[in-house]
Amino acid sequence: MKSIQLETPGRFKVIDELKPIRELGEALVRVHRIGVCGTDIHAFHGRQPFFDYPRILGHELGAEIIEINDNGLGLKPGDKCSIEPYFNNKCSSASRMGKSNCCEDLKVLGVHIDGGMRPYITVPIEKLHRANELSFEQLALIETICIGTHGIERSMLTKDETILILGTGPIGLGAIQFALALGSRVIVADISEQRLTFCRDVISVPHALKADAPDFEDQLKNLCGGDLPQVVLDATGNRFSMERTFNLAANGGRIVFVGLLMGEISFDDPNLHRKELTLMASRNATPDTFKKVIGAVADGSIDTKPWITHRMAILDVPKQFEKIASQPDLIKAIIEV
Ligand SMILES: [Zn+2]
Repeated sequence: MKSIQLETPGRFKVIDELKPIRELGEALVRVHRIGVCGTDIHAFHGRQPFFDYPRILGHELGAEIIEINDNGLGLKPGDKCSIEPYFNNKCSSASRMGKSNCCEDLKVLGVHIDGGMRPYITVPIEKLHRANELSFEQLALIETICIGTHGIERSMLTKDETILILGTGPIGLGAIQFALALGSRVIVADISEQRLTFCRDVISVPHALKADAPDFEDQLKNLCGGDLPQVVLDATGNRFSMERTFNLAANGGRIVFVGLLMGEISFDDPNLHRKELTLMASRNATPDTFKKVIGAVADGSIDTKPWITHRMAILDVPKQFEKIASQPDLIKAIIEV
């Protein structure tokens, strides 16, 4: 089979591989669609810390079961699945607490181990999330929506609260759509006018603010009737944005960092104490998040139509990846296998 390997930063190549052979507890799946993630783009540009080359990328997968043993989950050949790409050690302390998403031995498919940018892969059976009612394209979007959704889960947002979501890339978008589906009041902020317009016109976000407007905090307070939002979620991974969240959350409020910064941030401790803020990180997503997001996509409360802005065939990845990855209107590119 023809697989796509990122040989070194800036260079993909087509390699010939044998179809993988599954081991006990694994299924052989046919990959039909692959979502391109910011992680993949960073790896391509050599900006992904602790990343080993060569590597087969691809962790946002819409797949079909080809071979599987009898299993207690009723999964069978022909079933359509999304794949939870976080391979955890079940004996680790985080896994034992139900937090497989942040297991200390975590291996992410397509990041720490070779992923799905190829026609066939083997995966542990428990990482398959079946949804025959969704298209392969929708299945390939589930993981990315789960990242933002897990941030909302961490925040314990209720429908009576207001959330400010900073950053409207795919992670922010997942958070926005899940918060809207909850019925909460959603305010988004970004520095890109193009993305704000997309949020207003395509996602129907009622309040989309320019994050670098000089009167940003006044605009935010106006929208909150003179108060501040109970929840602030950062999906930028930008130091300035993350440090600013402490000023943007209401007293008693919660801050969730979904975006990751490779460095340190600082905050004013008296401000944190005076407001009695709660700061949380959000990493990956849990199996329950996958089930929840699949349900929301299936019942239409999350609309995946606006997500896909670009497409390419798998064998065109070496030629087209860089160009597509640099398009200013890129939300999500899908690779067809
Ligand atoms: Zn991703």
